Amino acid sequence: MKQRTSRWEEEVEVEEVEEGEHLEEFIKATHKIVSNEEAEKNIVSRSTVVKGVLLQQAVQVAVSLLLFTFISDDSGVVPQQPSILVIATQFLVAMFVMDTWQYFMHRYMHINRFLYKHIHSKHHTLIVPYAFGALYNHPAEGLILDTIGGVLSFLISGMTPRTSIFFFSFATIKTVDDHCGLWLPGNILHLFFKNNSAYHDIHHQLFGNKYNFSQPFFITWDKILGTHMPFSLEKRKEGGFEARPIKKD
Ligand SMILES: [Zn+2]
Ligand SMILES: [Zn+2]
Repeated sequence: MKQRTSRWEEEVEVEEVEEGEHLEEFIKATHKIVSNEEAEKNIVSRSTVVKGVLLQQAVQVAVSLLLFTFISDDSGVVPQQPSILVIATQFLVAMFVMDTWQYFMHRYMHINRFLYKHIHSKHHTLIVPYAFGALYNHPAEGLILDTIGGVLSFLISGMTPRTSIFFFSFATIKTVDDHCGLWLPGNILHLFFKNNSAYHDIHHQLFGNKYNFSQPFFITWDKILGTHMPFSLEKRKEGGFEARPIKKD
């Protein structure tokens, strides 16, 4: 696909892409959500993010193993999967529980100065988010928001460990997509969720810190409690998109 551009350098770059050499750069150039003022403002290195995410994953695995050891009986019988209707209901209940827990804990971490400064600000060192930074946060935040939120969703919904594999995989995919910083055409998640990469990008922008706390599924709590920030998604002439908050006052 050839794009006509006014500048010669850009034309060369696009032609190289046609040869399939820089697919990643092409996707970033055409579908990245960029805010002019916020670009290049990340104050944490990618290697630090990778280490932080790996630590977070290790803690989650440890807690999951402890939980399953605690709730399993000694009979060795694998719990039967209920009907698909029951599984779907459990999924919805788990989504509601996770959204509710995360909204209030997340918002409280922004209101409480101590918690923000010492814990949640770590996640916000990513002003311009990217996919593998989705779960980059303070270990205490990982434990409180993600792990405890996950345990509550699991226990309250009553889903089986087998169903939970799908639920937690889905929740992780959704969170990674919300932080990927890309607005990809045909993204099926955008059909079902208004909480998406642009919505959460607004939260990560410096201005948006008081809005769009909802994560990872629905925007219901933001709407009910007045923290919903509408935004416009505009094509930039330099390539990509810009998520722009529509200021209320
Ligand atoms: Zn936040
Ligand atoms: Zn985030």
